Amino acid sequence: MSLFEEINLPSGEKYSQPLGLFINNKFVASSNGDVLETVNPATGKRITQVHSADPYRDVDKAVQAARKVFETWKAVPATEKRDLFLKLAQLVKDNAHLLSQVESLDSGKPLHTNALADVNGVIQVLTYLAGWIDKEGGVAFSPAPGKLCYTLHQPLGVVGCIIPFNFPLSMMSWKWTAIATGNTTVFKSAHQTPLSILVFAQLVVKAGFPPGVFNVISGDGLKVGDALVRHLGVDKIAFTGSTKVGQLVQSHAAINLKPVTLECGGKSPLVVFSDADIDQAVKWASCAIFRNMGQICSGTSRCFVQESKYEEFLTKLTAHASVKFAVGLPSEETTIVGPQISKPQQESVMSYIDAAVKEGCRVVLGGPGVPEVIANDPVHAGGYYVRPTVLADVKPYYKIAREEVFGPVLAVGTFRDFDEALSIANDSQYGLGAGIFSRDIKKCHQFAQDVEAGMVWINSSNEVNFNMPFGGVKMSGHGRELGKYGLQNFTNVKAVYVNMVDI
Ligand code: NAD
Repeated sequence: MSLFEEINLPSGEKYSQPLGLFINNKFVASSNGDVLETVNPATGKRITQVHSADPYRDVDKAVQAARKVFETWKAVPATEKRDLFLKLAQLVKDNAHLLSQVESLDSGKPLHTNALADVNGVIQVLTYLAGWIDKEGGVAFSPAPGKLCYTLHQPLGVVGCIIPFNFPLSMMSWKWTAIATGNTTVFKSAHQTPLSILVFAQLVVKAGFPPGVFNVISGDGLKVGDALVRHLGVDKIAFTGSTKVGQLVQSHAAINLKPVTLECGGKSPLVVFSDADIDQAVKWASCAIFRNMGQICSGTSRCFVQESKYEEFLTKLTAHASVKFAVGLPSEETTIVGPQISKPQQESVMSYIDAAVKEGCRVVLGGPGVPEVIANDPVHAGGYYVRPTVLADVKPYYKIAREEVFGPVLAVGTFRDFDEALSIANDSQYGLGAGIFSRDIKKCHQFAQDVEAGMVWINSSNEVNFNMPFGGVKMSGHGRELGKYGLQNFTNVKAVYVNMVDI
């Protein structure tokens, strides 16, 4: 199988897509000839196939490449590393059109309203990380005359970075923190979305990163991902994905006690008090669940509204969402909601909607069935679409309020008072994000303190700032990405004691 193949981009342009494993700054064939097909979620049709790594030989080759360059990379002066990051950010900017086209094709993300924004995020993250490279340091103090204590933040070695399908380029860019802190890496892309990271790999070479600093292997999780997790030459795993797989990753990484950071699933609550600006609550609530087709780990997928404003909230929400969140083809400028990533994902989301209806939920928007605009389109009828759906009268114990659906489905119910809102919010195995809408600042801060979540939004939902730590508690995982805290997860802290006093 060849290492490049011409594919058709949504724009109609042709592009020679790299297909190989990316090791030592070169595309190479899989050792065992395995391939992985990738499908356009908007049509259900095959795009191309990539080389799938041999779990033993190729994973080892990639790890050895990263190992070999580690000593050299960690010794590169900070300002040089910073400049490489800035150059890479500029190359991403120059190639934003291409990257977003490939991302949209492979993941189904609407091109103009979603894929391009993701690429812009990559530019910002790389630029943000560049800023830290020559500034991150430890502490130094003198506890007594003639005594000095200081800390060194040192890279861990080779980091295995495992990324999910829902934000292929974005989640990859967050894990470039590993490289910024002096580590070398092997990235394992999600089996549904292997293409965009291989386009990006060409920019890494162009920017001038030494061979081996950034390697990419494609393949399925059970074989290739697991082989990376278990590899004794890997010093840390940075994983983003489902809680179920996160559990496996943590247990298999125990083989050499490698540390793991786990960015896993969620069922984030949004509580709306009757003293809130309901129009604002409606806008944020819908955006936080219908954007990216609801495939957002921190999406506030269960929303509880204080009883007196419940029906008003529902009426305004359905009116807003039915106009604002247009379902359509990913290439169209007006599309906000594209397809789900795959047939199994589409079926899974549909089955959650069916189960919710059986449990007693009222469908106030969307519901079962494919959106009409898609069902009547001959090319896209095979796409994996789900209608943006609002389910009302949800009880906190319903399946739809407890399990991660990972689709454009908002479960809405009621609460009486602050204590009940907090207790519903905390009644979950997950703890990724949580939101509150209220004009009462005391209530908001009380909620922020008491809610079991890694991130809290007061009068918004799902805002992300790259200066802030991202991550969860409970079954949503542990460790943080982004911000100053994100850097700490990729270094060892060494304590150095200097004595200048004779005894
Ligand atoms: P997934 O867990 O199925 O797969 C994630 C990655 O793990 C993929 O690359 C996959 O190939 C790999 N993998 C699968 N089995 C493996 C194994 N046994 N060993 C090692 N690697 C393995 O998740 P997904 O379906 O790609 O993504 C959706 C999930 O990711 C959702 O649960 C979502 O909430 C979560 N997510 C979390 C965050 C966060 O920051 N907390 C961000 C994005 C997505």
